[in-house]
Amino acid sequence: MYVDYHNHTVLCHHATGTVEEYLERARDLGIAEYGFAEHSYWMVRPDARNLCPSLEEMQTYFQWMDRAREQWDGSGGGPLLRVGLEADWVPDRIGEAKRFVQSYPFDYILGSVHHLQDPATGKWVSSWWFDECDLDTIYTTYFEEVAQLARSGLCDILAHLDVIRRSTRVPEKGVLPYVEAILPAIVESGVAVEINASGRDHLNGDFFPQEDVLRLLIEAGVPITFGSDAHAPTHVGRYASDVVELFTACGGREFMRFENRRMIPTPV
Ligand SMILES: [Zn+2]
Ligand SMILES: [Zn+2]
Repeated sequence: MYVDYHNHTVLCHHATGTVEEYLERARDLGIAEYGFAEHSYWMVRPDARNLCPSLEEMQTYFQWMDRAREQWDGSGGGPLLRVGLEADWVPDRIGEAKRFVQSYPFDYILGSVHHLQDPATGKWVSSWWFDECDLDTIYTTYFEEVAQLARSGLCDILAHLDVIRRSTRVPEKGVLPYVEAILPAIVESGVAVEINASGRDHLNGDFFPQEDVLRLLIEAGVPITFGSDAHAPTHVGRYASDVVELFTACGGREFMRFENRRMIPTPV
């Protein structure tokens, strides 16, 4: 059994394909539960309209999901549709974000630190675009934000936990020590972490999180789930067998399904 909970629609302005095309692809791959998790409208970068729906477009998202739920109910060999949101971490809009996630019956909320505020200019920049900064400072800042996101209660699942590696510049000591430093926040908050298969198609070639981090999380009892971060129907379920193989090789026995913001442990 496989679930794929991290998928986008054209409403985010940087994805292609119809909702039906994604779901048909999931059906063809035998995915049991398929979930959309559209970007949130409150992304803060100046060019964010290319990255997320508007508030009005979120209503369209809900309409599309309501309609698709009727057809994609898990019968007839098709996947069961789950509906989520990828909530962007913007600390000073946390109240607004929490109110918004109450406004629709989501099955789960992913949480992502896509942007950090440049200390020099105050501008919001992609978390992996700080090429001019001291690496240790920016990695520490990024993971401290992830810890705050975990503790905020905003999300059920931390998305692409070490996406900052997209910069291709990793501090000499590697990523693991930064995750070890925030492990108590992750464990105590009870959030799950996704294995995000899109990492393999970005510059560093492996999944988010990388293997040693995944092993650490599983050993600490952190719940794990799966997502392809699809922005096109061809991305759906990408590298699914490799994801499961890595998960079990790192000691994973049960992954998490989600319904109504409730976690359901499921044997792999
Ligand atoms: Zn995206
Ligand atoms: Zn993301």
